[in-house]
Amino acid sequence: MKKIPLYARILIGMLIGAIIGVIAVSTNTGWIIDDWVKPFGVIFLKLLKLVAIPLIFASLVTGISGLSDITKLSRIGLKTIAFYIFTTILAVSIGLMLVTLFKPGNSFPEEKRIELLSKYSQDLETKANIAESTKSDGPLKFIVDIVPDNIVASASSNSNMLQVIFFAILFGVAIVLLKNSKVELVREFISGLNDIILKIIDFIMNFAPIGVMALLAALIVDYSGDNPAQSLQLFETLGYYALVVISGLLLIGFVLYPIFLRVFARVPFKTFYKEMFPVHLVAFSTSSSAATLPVTMEQVENGLGVRNEVASFVLPVGVTINMDGTSLYQSIAAVFIAQVFGIELTFIHFLTILFTATLASIGTAAVPGAGVVMLVIVLNAVGIPVEGLALILAIDRPLDMMRTVINVTGDAMIAVIIDKNENKI
Ligand code: ASP
Repeated sequence: MKKIPLYARILIGMLIGAIIGVIAVSTNTGWIIDDWVKPFGVIFLKLLKLVAIPLIFASLVTGISGLSDITKLSRIGLKTIAFYIFTTILAVSIGLMLVTLFKPGNSFPEEKRIELLSKYSQDLETKANIAESTKSDGPLKFIVDIVPDNIVASASSNSNMLQVIFFAILFGVAIVLLKNSKVELVREFISGLNDIILKIIDFIMNFAPIGVMALLAALIVDYSGDNPAQSLQLFETLGYYALVVISGLLLIGFVLYPIFLRVFARVPFKTFYKEMFPVHLVAFSTSSSAATLPVTMEQVENGLGVRNEVASFVLPVGVTINMDGTSLYQSIAAVFIAQVFGIELTFIHFLTILFTATLASIGTAAVPGAGVVMLVIVLNAVGIPVEGLALILAIDRPLDMMRTVINVTGDAMIAVIIDKNENKI
């Protein structure tokens, strides 16, 4: 088993997961999957999340404290943010272009609209409430939230990644400025800690094939629910919209990113995608860029050769603020809903979507289903009825899996670009 490369083992795991999921649904034995298979997927997810915070801290402190001067850090920081915002704006623009070109909402059957609106109206209220509380926080809340007031409390939740990053940067910068033997000891200690965490990630990745098998099988069972035929029919109804989202994701992944890699890093996209394959499989199965982060870090550093000082900063920041797949999806979904409701959108509306989808994707948490919650902000800004979310909820999970793949790819691509760029300097 050891001889088979990791990505192939994960692929086999996914395949087996899909097969047993379908068998369980068609033989009405979904409970076996829920009781005896799903727990292994949950364990895999928990293990990935377990290492996220220690990994960010140890890796970032090791990366920064190895820098010879601090100006390099601010240069990397500025370039990273600029690239992230630039790619997000491009992703939203691609989404807007596709959805206006193909108009998936214009041919949506009226009776389906009524059916979906009533079916998902309850789910909707919770989502709208979460987004509403985010929105009412004021424009600078985002920055205020980055600064922790208790590092133990921050490190106790994976949703506080930016706070941990903030503390790790302070910690690393202080190490660079204080050159003495006691501080050197701390630096060595954290660098050793980093090695240990990387080894733990190796262990976890060996468990990945079983983890993704369980996650996929459970997903198929949960998704098909009590009435698989009805779920299939939903796919048919929403197929055109899903197709537009998928084409957008493919355009980003196979046209935009290769161009970026060629122009800014001179890296052939084949090499890049070969190393990223295991990351894609984990992102697809977990639907969470945060859970995928340990794998992304490992592949970007060991597979693509990006230096730790770059990867340890660019990737965790990317996980929290850079989501090209999500922003593309949010722009398409917003216009799709407007089309179904027969709302005419003007140029100003499109600009508003561009602006809010960029912000909403920055604010989206890197967990399953977060993108659809933040979509409420885009809908509200343009005056599209939030009830419209009900139309797309049924098909959100598979699209979430795919947009997460693009989200993590975008982060890795920028890490490669920044690394090459820094190398030249
Ligand atoms: N699941 C996505 C991610 O973790 C976020 C989203 O829902 O779009 O990257």
